[in-house]
Amino acid sequence: MFYEDLSPYAYRDQGDTFFDVTDGMRFASFEPAYDRLNIGWLEAGRSWPSGRAPRNFGRRLLAVIDAQQVNDMLGLHECDLCPTPLPDSHFWQTPRPGDLRASAGTGEIRVPGSPGTVFAAPSLVGHYVLDHRYLPPQPFIEAVLAFDPYGTWQARFPGIRFPWIPEDAVLRHVDDE
Ligand SMILES: [Zn+2]
Repeated sequence: MFYEDLSPYAYRDQGDTFFDVTDGMRFASFEPAYDRLNIGWLEAGRSWPSGRAPRNFGRRLLAVIDAQQVNDMLGLHECDLCPTPLPDSHFWQTPRPGDLRASAGTGEIRVPGSPGTVFAAPSLVGHYVLDHRYLPPQPFIEAVLAFDPYGTWQARFPGIRFPWIPEDAVLRHVDDE
């Protein structure tokens, strides 16, 4: 699916669900009090900016991707900028030859922006930046460089690495459904 960078997020019209990355079996799901702006929902045939990102950006972006699992139940996204589909024998988490990141991924990430605003990107954004030279808008680059997904604010739900979890959010077990 393609969404213009910085357009309002509408992929999932319910709230955001953050999975506990330490065990993947617990999650907090809530109606966000923040606005979500799309970043990096690329698609072949649509134009998107490319170029060299600042030093450290790729590394910091991957740290967020490794630290979060958001809306992870919506299935596997495959990169369609890559030249050919992968054969079924290729494990989806393994990068293609010459690539730094896998060209398929699940879920999304959230990066706090200005107060009340969060950037919403597919986890594949790391592959887009590192392997396709996608250059996201400057406000997103700055937000990633300023965001520490292992910040001290996460004491309440240590496995959920995002600061803007509402006070009334509860941690539930996948089995509870
Ligand atoms: Zn690709």
